[in-house]
Amino acid sequence: MGAPPVSGAVFPLGAAWRPDESTSLQRGARRRRGYGHTPKLCRPICHAPNLPSALFRGSAFTPLRCSGKLSTMNPRRMPRRTKARLPAVGLPPKTIKTNRRGQRVGEILAQLEKLYPDARCTLHHQSPLQLLVATILSAQCTDVRVNLVTPLLFARFPDAAALAQAAPGEIEAIIRSTGFFRAKAKSIQAAARQLVDQHGGQVPETMAALTALPGVGRKTANVVLGNAFGQNVGVVVDTHVGRLARRLGLTRQEDPEKVEQDLMALIPREQWTRFAHQLIWHGRQVCAARRPDCGHCPLAELCPSAFGLDGGHRGKRGS
Ligand code: SF4
Repeated sequence: MGAPPVSGAVFPLGAAWRPDESTSLQRGARRRRGYGHTPKLCRPICHAPNLPSALFRGSAFTPLRCSGKLSTMNPRRMPRRTKARLPAVGLPPKTIKTNRRGQRVGEILAQLEKLYPDARCTLHHQSPLQLLVATILSAQCTDVRVNLVTPLLFARFPDAAALAQAAPGEIEAIIRSTGFFRAKAKSIQAAARQLVDQHGGQVPETMAALTALPGVGRKTANVVLGNAFGQNVGVVVDTHVGRLARRLGLTRQEDPEKVEQDLMALIPREQWTRFAHQLIWHGRQVCAARRPDCGHCPLAELCPSAFGLDGGHRGKRGS
């Protein structure tokens, strides 16, 4: 049994030397430095399974196909070999994960459908223009309050031309109780003028044209497109929808447009408008902003925020 070869010595092919003959001192130093060939690392590359190539450095013998690069690499940073993950029979892992998440969303949708089969827009309207005006008025105001003022407003100004020609004070006087009445009157009249000038007095049916109107953002446009024209172009994200989507773990975003993007990716398109109404109804009846009634919430088992698990909502269980 010979001693390990020293640097510069010729190590004969086929000579018997076992790696465990290197002293524990040498192995420990290599381990502490974290560098250098080890028999384990070198084996698949130089095809010299029993010959640690650190021992060949500087010698006349260079193992076949050993690039030498390993000697400068930190083995701790090298990618580990892991067992190949085998997909479940017939289903790749990604599909399984997607299905699990999709399953929870599906159960939430089914529960909401059971709870609120009649969910719909609660703003009274008989035309796209009336819905557009009512939605502008509903900012920072309840739908009930808006529904109290719109009958008089729509009777006095039946179309876009009438609204465009109205004296601002007249509109303000009627909508005063909805709050922010000056800004709202200004938006309504500016939108009506643009409708008359650019769309023949009709409300356009595209997101781009609607959001180009003064005082009309993506939320208002989604309300009009979904409820007056039956188009699912986006998800209405108001204060209720944003709050519930976060509590139900459907998004982590605060920005309404980012919340909308997350919901659009999770909810089937044909349900966008309906889903928003159902969340709004659930937010009004059960999952209030300050005191969510988790104890009586049928979604509690599916909700990661139930009973204050996220530290914020402490409805009483079963009370
Ligand atoms: S369990 Fe509580 S927090 Fe979750 S949706 Fe129901 S009321 Fe809201």
